[in-house]
Amino acid sequence: MAKAKKTILVVDDENDIRTLYKELLSKSYKIISAKDGDEGLKLIFSKKPDLVILDIKMPKMNGLEVLRKAKSFFPTMPVVLCTAFSSYKTVYASSLADAFVVKSPDLSELLETVHSLLNNH
Ligand SMILES: [Mg+2]
Repeated sequence: MAKAKKTILVVDDENDIRTLYKELLSKSYKIISAKDGDEGLKLIFSKKPDLVILDIKMPKMNGLEVLRKAKSFFPTMPVVLCTAFSSYKTVYASSLADAFVVKSPDLSELLETVHSLLNNH
């Protein structure tokens, strides 16, 4: 029997990004998604994904707050911050994340990061 796919939660307020990441990753992983931080945190608790790809700038609850809350309950769940703003990399709250990827049309870094984090956990 084939091994069950690991689940990745994509939290991003942009529909195009959620669709893009789903296309990128759904061959290897089961993808679930949320359009804001509030919804994302609810899915973290209810689905306990194997990894979270998290945008920072979102309505209701920003990604750094989601990160802080998620890590306080699930410290070993890998979280990849994925934002267009590289300046967030030096923000202290970002250091809780397992990886930081700047949004780019080239998705290879994100893909590599996800693969490596899921093989190492
Ligand atoms: Mg955003």
